[in-house]
Amino acid sequence: MSDKGARILYIEDDHASRRLVERVLTSRGYEVYVASEGLEGINLAREKSPELILMDINLPNMDGREITTRLRSLPNFSNVPIVALTANISPGSRELALAAGCTGFMTKPIDVATFPSDVQRFLQGASDKLTADERSQHLELHAQNLVERLENKVRELRSANKRLMELDSLKSDFIVLVSHELRTPLTLVSGYSHLLAEQVNNKNDLIPAQSIAGIAEGLQSGVTRMQEVINEIISVVRISSGTLDLSLGPVRLTKVIGDVADTFKDVCAKRNLTFIVDDFSEMPLLQGDGRRLQAAIEHVVGNAVKYTPDGGSISVMGRNVKDKAVDIIIQDTGIGIPVDEQRRIFEQFYTLGAIEHHSTSKSAFQGGGLGLGLAIAKGIIEAHNGRIWVESDRRDADTLPGSIFHILLPIQPGDTPPMI
Ligand code: ADP
Repeated sequence: MSDKGARILYIEDDHASRRLVERVLTSRGYEVYVASEGLEGINLAREKSPELILMDINLPNMDGREITTRLRSLPNFSNVPIVALTANISPGSRELALAAGCTGFMTKPIDVATFPSDVQRFLQGASDKLTADERSQHLELHAQNLVERLENKVRELRSANKRLMELDSLKSDFIVLVSHELRTPLTLVSGYSHLLAEQVNNKNDLIPAQSIAGIAEGLQSGVTRMQEVINEIISVVRISSGTLDLSLGPVRLTKVIGDVADTFKDVCAKRNLTFIVDDFSEMPLLQGDGRRLQAAIEHVVGNAVKYTPDGGSISVMGRNVKDKAVDIIIQDTGIGIPVDEQRRIFEQFYTLGAIEHHSTSKSAFQGGGLGLGLAIAKGIIEAHNGRIWVESDRRDADTLPGSIFHILLPIQPGDTPPMI
């Protein structure tokens, strides 16, 4: 059979090797198909019925030997030459490839001068041989490798499945929480609007301004809470899809921290929490998105308020780290966080403690939340090339070990902050 125009399939994950072989063989008149991984290669082989297959051995997912064994089990592929083309020349790799069903073994990088004639040789029926002993020894090894890989795959799948199930249950909890968080302010809005309607219907006279103001305030607070919930959801979606847009500019931390302190002033006074803020006026100017940074710090401070019982204290401190970064430290005297949960609390939907215990007030002790606050804070900080982490000994609502959150932000957003 003439091999001119023969169809050759090359399964190879390395782009440069693929290009080179494709070029060399195409210039000799062969019809070349390429695939970058096993399943794609098997599908292409079925579709194109190649007269020769060149097979890289080290491939992601299925390796070249496994693909060869699989191809050999398919109708029409028992006799097609499959030639291993590999950079791996360690002892035994040739024998293993042949035992797995390869017809021949060639090494990479290819020698452009001799490669086409080698290919032609295999197309014309050449094959590398193993002794019966070598074959049975390596076949056994190949079978062992296959079973080991299968075992690893089963393990990987099992843990991926477990993770998905966890995520699924976190998401279900999240839906319950969101409905709950939206329903409460909605009830408020609906109650106040009924009240307004009643006042309008029942009175022929003008409604007193005071009464209107009270209703307006109630409506306003319901709407604000709904806006906050929706904004949190939008932020987390943007962060997960990598579409969080930052509008960079100079950020003065005194202003940002001052605004955060203002946000929590009233609730701290109401709950008898001492709120101590360092003087940030000497801190270097950062380059970043001030609005988003403020939101991130607000989430962390909001948690400090939420997880500290009445009468406790919250401090916000700043440290200049070698003129490269600023470390914003938020310390509370609250219930603390168990050491083995300290990473997971930054994941989306993760709230520690059963959701049925969540109360709806955002600022009450252990008040409700969507489990998104820290994920949002982390997303914003990381978008600034910063890092956020927590230090706490344990969780204990009696002894109150407290938590210390660090937000480390590089002064220039392109910089990586130093390790501390
Ligand atoms: P949530 O909406 O549940 O507050 P967050 O993402 O803000 O969600 O926080 C995740 C979890 O981390 C919280 O459920 C809480 O258990 C824990 N946590 C966060 N900050 C603190 C803190 N300062 N003290 C104690 N626990 C905290």
